[in-house]
Amino acid sequence: MCKSPSTRVLSACGCERCATRIPNFPKTAAGIASGALPTAPMADRFLRGCKGDAKKAAHVLTDSLCWREEYGADALRDESEPDGAPRAEIIQSYYPTALHTRRDRKGRVVWIERVGLCDPSIASAKRVYQNAAGQWEDGPTAWLRCHVRLNELAGRQHAERVVIMDMQEMNSGHVSSAGIALIKSMIALDQRHYPETLHALLIVNAPWILEKAFAIIRQGMDPVTLGKIKVLGSTTNASVHSELLAHIDVADLPDFLGGELAGCCPIHPRLRAGSAPVDGEATTTIDAGATRVARAALPAAAAELWVRSSAACAVTVDVIVGGAAAVTAASVGPAPQCFPLAAAAAEAEVELRVTSTNRMRSGAIFWTLDGVSEIEWEVE
Ligand SMILES: [Zn+2]
Repeated sequence: MCKSPSTRVLSACGCERCATRIPNFPKTAAGIASGALPTAPMADRFLRGCKGDAKKAAHVLTDSLCWREEYGADALRDESEPDGAPRAEIIQSYYPTALHTRRDRKGRVVWIERVGLCDPSIASAKRVYQNAAGQWEDGPTAWLRCHVRLNELAGRQHAERVVIMDMQEMNSGHVSSAGIALIKSMIALDQRHYPETLHALLIVNAPWILEKAFAIIRQGMDPVTLGKIKVLGSTTNASVHSELLAHIDVADLPDFLGGELAGCCPIHPRLRAGSAPVDGEATTTIDAGATRVARAALPAAAAELWVRSSAACAVTVDVIVGGAAAVTAASVGPAPQCFPLAAAAAEAEVELRVTSTNRMRSGAIFWTLDGVSEIEWEVE
């Protein structure tokens, strides 16, 4: 019986480099010796990634098996790595990304990144996460470990994924040499260790600045991968909308991408930005020099009040909880400010008084009680 190329099994590479390297990785060596490694789906992906060149595929795959043990990729997949989830939580406050709870029309994993709302300082930050061993990881290290973790978690669900990168609110501040270097190392890592897992990469709400960055990033990318990438315009555009719907049912598509599903890939409050409400923020316009007052009954759980203004607007904020001033005349601009509300304030009335300090232009204010959706604000 003739085996089709897709079911052909590769064995480990026998070259000198691999033969010297394998013994440094006892689990990998044992797996190869017992025949458990490489697994058939892995071999298949690497073989396709190397366009059927079995010798090259065996070498690249063997190198990748060693890398997996060195990097601890299996532990990240199994969530047995103690830093997996806590590190991801820290990274979320810089870079909002998630594996969607819904799948594409063929059951593939949908991976969402809200890049335009990320904090680009992650690419050059020195101390981002202190791991279980007590060592500080810099931004790129912690971010890449989270990226590998998502790759592993996605691979456990389906062999392929559709990645949607939302560039909404992206500006020139997002394009730095450190940021581009980080994206390039991510692409290199994906091509090297996760070949043939990308079904499609849809970049939506892409501003012109992205085309400039993409021209740099695309250099050195495999043409097959490039063919899977689509740089699309606004999700309010009918053709972009139907492109997304070709992949994902409207009921499964996140609301911020023009679909019907709320609560996907939430943004850390400090990353909210722009001139539209993000993730259920309350909003109202404010005239130059005017004051707006919003009141609500605080829910039982203590919460943080986050306030920001649109770019054209600067405001001062007073917060009155249960009749007592909790915050007086705090200055707030487009960067979200957090006002923690004491646990004792639960179920009291909270009053937010916002005064425009810009004498020339009206603008918008946005506020939210973190962790609380569905709250009625009375605005006057
Ligand atoms: Zn080799």
